[in-house]
Amino acid sequence: MTESSEIQQAVASYCRRNSLKNWHPLAALIDMDGVLYDSMPRHAQAWHRMMSEIGIQTDPDEFYLYEGMTGAATIDLLFERHLHRSATAEEVKQLYEKKSDYFRNFGARMPMPGAALMLRKLEDAGLKRVLVTGSAQGSLLTALEEDYPGAFLPGMRVTALDVTKGKPNPEPYLRGLEKAGVSPAEAVVIENAPLGVQAGHASGCFTVGITTGPIPAEKLREAGADIIFPSMQAFADNIETLLQGYDC
Ligand code: MG
Repeated sequence: MTESSEIQQAVASYCRRNSLKNWHPLAALIDMDGVLYDSMPRHAQAWHRMMSEIGIQTDPDEFYLYEGMTGAATIDLLFERHLHRSATAEEVKQLYEKKSDYFRNFGARMPMPGAALMLRKLEDAGLKRVLVTGSAQGSLLTALEEDYPGAFLPGMRVTALDVTKGKPNPEPYLRGLEKAGVSPAEAVVIENAPLGVQAGHASGCFTVGITTGPIPAEKLREAGADIIFPSMQAFADNIETLLQGYDC
């Protein structure tokens, strides 16, 4: 369990690092896969199957490490590793479509337990919410409004289609800050993957890491997470302590 003193310490150390006298978050920049949806096992399986079919052997668990990267970047990385060349635009398009088809066919989407509570508490506390995802997976993006009605106002989303450099580059979170109209010191990033945490940290935001898959907390710490929660439910239960803000 993350104690409130631990949250306070994390904010104090963020303030010191950024020379802030106080910290009061006005916006939350929220990742999708592994945060709002328990979708990573299906993504990993879909990637693994698609790659096997074109003769590229992978370990399903390795895709948890690429989480946050755009689909194009993941395809390129595996092409370079196995074929020693980058993928053509046409290959990227076809392979990503195939992977997306497998993903859709692997069953019903599963909202992450605790995510709805988290979004409600963010809204109640008056924070703007921006979705910041490396995904271009239409099926999940259109489902958001159904699963989390009103959680994201129109236009308050940054997807793989809106950036030139995906996570771990800070660009997606910097675009998110623009959409929210706040500075890095006024926003919280909510992430589950090492590359996403790295992007959040590099954007200058206070970055919450949540372990919702096989990646150990230590990896999120190394990536620059300011604080780590063991589950979305644990974060949702304790979020008020973070959102009340602090004089440093
Ligand atoms: Mg994620």
